[in-house]
Amino acid sequence: AYIDRIHNVDPDLQAYLTVLEDQALAQAAEVDSKIAQGEVLSSLEGIPMAMKDNMCTEGVRTSCASKMLENFIPPYNATVTDRLRAAGTILLGKLNMDEFAMGSSTENSYFAKTRNPWDMEYVPGGSSGGAAVAVAADEAAFALGSDTGGSIRQPAAFCGVVGMKPTYGAVSRYGLIAYASSLDQIGPLTKTVRDNALVMNAIAGYDPRDSTSVPYEKPDYTKFLVNDIKGLKIGIPREYYGEGIDPDVAKGIQSGIRTLIDLGAEVAECSLPHTEYAIPAYYLIATAEASSNLARYDGVRYGYRAEAADVLGMFKTTRAEGFGPEVKRRIMLGTYALSSGYYDAYYLKAQKVRTLIKQDFDQAFEKFDILLSPTAPTPAFKFGEKSANPLAMYLSDITTVPINLAGIPAISIPAGFVKGLPIGMQLMGKAFDEGTLYRAAYTFE
Ligand code: GLN
Repeated sequence: AYIDRIHNVDPDLQAYLTVLEDQALAQAAEVDSKIAQGEVLSSLEGIPMAMKDNMCTEGVRTSCASKMLENFIPPYNATVTDRLRAAGTILLGKLNMDEFAMGSSTENSYFAKTRNPWDMEYVPGGSSGGAAVAVAADEAAFALGSDTGGSIRQPAAFCGVVGMKPTYGAVSRYGLIAYASSLDQIGPLTKTVRDNALVMNAIAGYDPRDSTSVPYEKPDYTKFLVNDIKGLKIGIPREYYGEGIDPDVAKGIQSGIRTLIDLGAEVAECSLPHTEYAIPAYYLIATAEASSNLARYDGVRYGYRAEAADVLGMFKTTRAEGFGPEVKRRIMLGTYALSSGYYDAYYLKAQKVRTLIKQDFDQAFEKFDILLSPTAPTPAFKFGEKSANPLAMYLSDITTVPINLAGIPAISIPAGFVKGLPIGMQLMGKAFDEGTLYRAAYTFE
């Protein structure tokens, strides 16, 4: 049914870069025969899903939506790929994204223009646009995305699905093609909060192959799906409702807050005073790390290689032709921020601001169990509306990037519609307290 659905809607929506039809159907047939023999399946066994095209899949092209990796076939699986396979899920294919996960609209893909299923004139959000669309349009039962500064939550909000950015260190990054290593996390996009918790059960947990993976006691996340939020302390950070936030979005979130109060939550305003510095700090740190991570694409070991008379010419032409404009802009920004003479003024300063932002959250969590805000300042925007102005695009990330700088978890859940387009409510939690986010989010299900 999912394969049929992909055939029917994906020519318009373009969520998929690769569809593994034969492989998926063969796997499904195996599950069918298990069922025929009366075997009891485990919770995710036989569930058709798809992955953003920056997670390595052995033998299946992993392109990062870049010309640079157009023909790259990984010789190994990401840890999440292995874990989902072990859980018995069926991989339907790989999903479109902004090139190397840099963007907020999926318009930076080298290959395809993914459309928002609610209105095809609008972007699906990004960078995990394909993942959000695949789930919203029933082209996959769930999808994995990655979130460096909002790339799971913002497209989830724009497409009306649930998206979880787990705590940094909760889900292994082994085999996730790096954008900004100190910020990147993989997480699930799903139709429901329950599905989300089920997928987290399968993918989260310590992995010795990722040096930043944390050996923590992984709970059964479905245990938190209880309809009880009495006494839950919820903070409303006032900086997330200020300038640039569409008043209709703020209103939509208010009605969600009222529901939580009615159900017994204790809600109060709070402040995260360094929020206004989150965008500059994020775009310095993320680009600095990206400039280093993307140095490996030199045409020598793998990926695109341009013809040239000598080796230096080959490096240069490979990178000039292989990367798109946004990726180049970020490599230049990041290289500049890291260069001697500028390092202290930009990179080091940004790291200090990052600490202040983290401390804002630490203080807020002394009083509150979770914090609540809009996931994005506006509903989805139209194609082309922001792509000509990178700064406008960066500013639209104000409600999501502080969470990655602090390393904490956050979930976006559907919160109604504004001008016919879905909006999302973001719940932010303490490190490794995804459970409380699921508990709060579940009240809306
Ligand atoms: N929009 C942000 C960026 O372009 C976040 C992207 C992401 O989370 N991968 O960097």
